[in-house]
Amino acid sequence: MNRIGFGTDIHRLVAGRPLVIGGVTIESDLGADGHSDADVLMHAATDAVLGALALGDIGSYFPNEEERWRNAESSQFLRYAVGLIKEKGYSLANLDSVIDLERPKLRPHIDAMRTNLAEAMGIDIERVSVKAKTGEAVDSVGERRAVRAQAIVLVVREHK
Ligand code: MG
Repeated sequence: MNRIGFGTDIHRLVAGRPLVIGGVTIESDLGADGHSDADVLMHAATDAVLGALALGDIGSYFPNEEERWRNAESSQFLRYAVGLIKEKGYSLANLDSVIDLERPKLRPHIDAMRTNLAEAMGIDIERVSVKAKTGEAVDSVGERRAVRAQAIVLVVREHK
């Protein structure tokens, strides 16, 4: 049986923090606030993978009150989630995602993000889609108070 999973995440934008999205550090006057590296795309992708098999959410595996996840590189969360679905006999067909950020423009970084996601998930880059939108100057994204990401995955049962 095929199954789908969905994940979403938001982080506040603040001065004095790096902006890491999809494992890429992006030059910006504002960065993402959070306990780990605050990578919204990796977090949304992790929740999508977990959600596909109803395995809970990222916070149940990596609580943000735990000191060891401070400034942690979030690709390890995604890697872990993919490991869980593989243990259950599933593999990833593809991931699609959207990042909402007012600025800077993310287009120059999209392929590097796809590469990082593909590597963490152990699939080909052709199966990984990353899209970017602005907030059209409205709402928390448009007012540069937040960065958001949403991801959806399809997982397929391996024939055994
Ligand atoms: Mg998060």
